[in-house]
Amino acid sequence: MIVAHDMAGKKIAVFGLARSGLAAVHSLQAAGAKVMAFDDDDARLAAVGDAAANLYDADFAGLDALVVSPGVPGTHPLALKAREAHLDLIGDMELFARARVDLPDHQLVAITGTNGKSTTAALLAHLVGVCGRPVALGGNIGISVLDLEPLPAGGIYVFEVSSFQADLTMSLDAEVAILLNISPDHLDRHGNMESYVSAKRRLFEMQQPGQVAIIGVDDDQSRAVAATLAGRVIPVSSQTAVPGGVYVAEGILYDGLDGDAVPVGDIADIATLRGVHNWQNAAAAFAAARMLGLEREAIFAALADFAGLPHRLEVIAAQGNVTYVNDSKATNTDSAARALEAIDGDIYWIAGGLLKETALDGLGKALGKVRKAYLIGEAAPELAAFLKGKVENQDFGTLQAATGAAARDAAASGGTVLLSPACASFDQFTDFEARGDAFREIVAGLVKGGAA
Ligand code: ADP
Repeated sequence: MIVAHDMAGKKIAVFGLARSGLAAVHSLQAAGAKVMAFDDDDARLAAVGDAAANLYDADFAGLDALVVSPGVPGTHPLALKAREAHLDLIGDMELFARARVDLPDHQLVAITGTNGKSTTAALLAHLVGVCGRPVALGGNIGISVLDLEPLPAGGIYVFEVSSFQADLTMSLDAEVAILLNISPDHLDRHGNMESYVSAKRRLFEMQQPGQVAIIGVDDDQSRAVAATLAGRVIPVSSQTAVPGGVYVAEGILYDGLDGDAVPVGDIADIATLRGVHNWQNAAAAFAAARMLGLEREAIFAALADFAGLPHRLEVIAAQGNVTYVNDSKATNTDSAARALEAIDGDIYWIAGGLLKETALDGLGKALGKVRKAYLIGEAAPELAAFLKGKVENQDFGTLQAATGAAARDAAASGGTVLLSPACASFDQFTDFEARGDAFREIVAGLVKGGAA
């Protein structure tokens, strides 16, 4: 556990007691802060014992801060109440940021972007670990940064930072901050693109002079962020040569960090880094690893044995001439488009769920290999309207029915059955993991039963 020593003696309220909130309670209590904690869910509330207090009734005068989980919108009544009482509205990452002075000498890498955060964070942690440095991976990837064990001196913390987490963080000055890309996502919460972009910019605003910014320059919004920064910006690209940066062209990784770009090696055949989008992730992780002082050749060698993450272009089964790929994490149209581009051959595409964007145009160019779209969930009618005249499609309602039909069609002529929903999962599943696990189970049943 990382102890928020800095908060000793302070009075702190914590709202939202899932992973990060609970970790905050433990860290604050260990530091000797006075903690009042609340969650609308009774079972979660019970987990904090004596610290439980109804924050709706509590007097906020005299409190020092309200710690909220990133799932709590800024318009929530308790967030408004905290603002009225002039409290700091912070998250677990801000507590970590304030605890850093007490930690052994270390470096911190913070990674944000619309897509590719988890992959890049996991890849970088892998590279750092293989190169022999102590490493800890946390944040949006699923473990609260306060639940990490302190690293020995020389250690490297790698944090995945969502835009919601960034909004709750004021003083995390990362030695290396990465922005991978920006495309419309979560606009329901952020209201408009401008506030979404400004959340993505936060990591850089918190940096000190001399700290490094790594920015994916393949989209307009990210390029615009890069152009406004005063300090050193390292560009990364999976599309074009970028002077002074790191890029991938036709599968070859180039390193221009020391001046002229030198070819480092071919990454096209690394199965877990398949697709141009993953080249962006690889270029960013490589650049970060170099800036942390790791050796070029050692980093390159380590890229090849990255295990990859579940639910991201994950090959889960193959039978006969049909391959099954679970890309349940593709919860927006941009990431689904990337998956459709990354797969060779005919695609039997399962899509749908809860649509986040209103504009589906981003999918248009990626439909060339799609033989048929098997639609599910609430978004099916909207997706069908978009696909009309472009790709054969049918509304199957459930993942079970869609997968069965896709498997039958694919068996006839071969290809890939791909779950890459372009939508959130909450209409039919608790989260993208549950959706991916359900797909895995359905496919296992089909493959075993020979129906595929
Ligand atoms: P995040 O943590 O930002 O949601 P992940 O690494 O979990 O990102 O990847 C989510 C999905 O986004 C993957 O299923 C993949 O299809 C797609 N993706 C991954 N990296 C990128 C990228 N650099 N650009 C666009 N899409 C990406």
